[in-house]
Amino acid sequence: MSLLEIKDLETFYGASQALFGVDLDVGEGEVVALMGRNGMGKTTTIRSIMALTPARSGSVRYAGRDIHAMRPHRIARLGLGLVPEGRRCFPNLTVAENLTAAARSGRWTLAEINQLFPRLAERRDQMARTLSGGEQQMLAIGRALMTNPGLLILDEATEGLAPVIRHDIWAVIRTLKQQGQSILIVDKTLSELLPCADRCFVLEKGATVWRGRPAELTPELQDRYLGV
Ligand code: ATP
Repeated sequence: MSLLEIKDLETFYGASQALFGVDLDVGEGEVVALMGRNGMGKTTTIRSIMALTPARSGSVRYAGRDIHAMRPHRIARLGLGLVPEGRRCFPNLTVAENLTAAARSGRWTLAEINQLFPRLAERRDQMARTLSGGEQQMLAIGRALMTNPGLLILDEATEGLAPVIRHDIWAVIRTLKQQGQSILIVDKTLSELLPCADRCFVLEKGATVWRGRPAELTPELQDRYLGV
C-alpha cells in the first residue's frame, strides 16, 4: 500500500484551473521527486495535498485514509510535514523555541535536530529573524522534522541558497533517506535530486505526463519536460 496516493487531482484558483489531473504516489521509505518546468503545478499539487488550496476533484489518500476533505491542521497532525517554499519560521522566537513549538513525540527531538544541523545548535538562543536565509531553511526543515512526520514534503528547500548551505541541506536529505524517511521533494538541482530519488513524476500544464525511475529520465526526456 502506498503511503500517499493521489489520483486525478483537479485544483482551481478562483475560476482559473491549475491542476488538470495529477496522479502521484509515494511508498513507505521512498524519496519521490515531483518535477516539471516553472508554473506546471508542483506547488499547487503540494498545496492540494495539504488542503491549503483544496482540490475540487480527485482523491488524496494518506496511510489508507481519505484526507481530501480534511482541514490543513488535521492533515498535518496525521503526519504530513511540509517545508513550504519560502521557509516560514516564527521570526521573534529563538531557534530552540521554534523547534520545540513544533514538537510532537517520536524519534526526532531537539537533541537529534541539533545533531543533524550543528549550525542550528550553535544559534539555539538567537531570534529566527537574525538567521541567514540558509539557516532559516535549516530551521524550517528542523521544525517539520520535530513534528515527526510520516511523510516529509520539501518544496524548493535549496532554492536561492549559497552553494555551501545547499551542500549541507542535500547531505541532510541523504541522511534522512538512509534512515528510511519517506520524502516528497520538489527541487531544480537535478544533479542532486536524481541520484537521491527512487522515483520521479513529471508535471506538464497541471497534469502528470511521465513517471519512472531517475535512470529512465533520459537527456531527451529531460529536454522535453524540464527544458534542461
Ligand atoms: P514554480 O516552479 O515556478 O514554483 P510550479 O510548478 O510550482 O512552478 P505552481 O506554482 O503550482 O507551479 O503554478 C501552477 C499554475 O497555477 C500556474 O499557471 C500559476 O500561474 C497558477 N497559480 C499559482 N498560484 C496561483 C494563485 N495564487 N492564484 C492564481 N493562479 C495561481
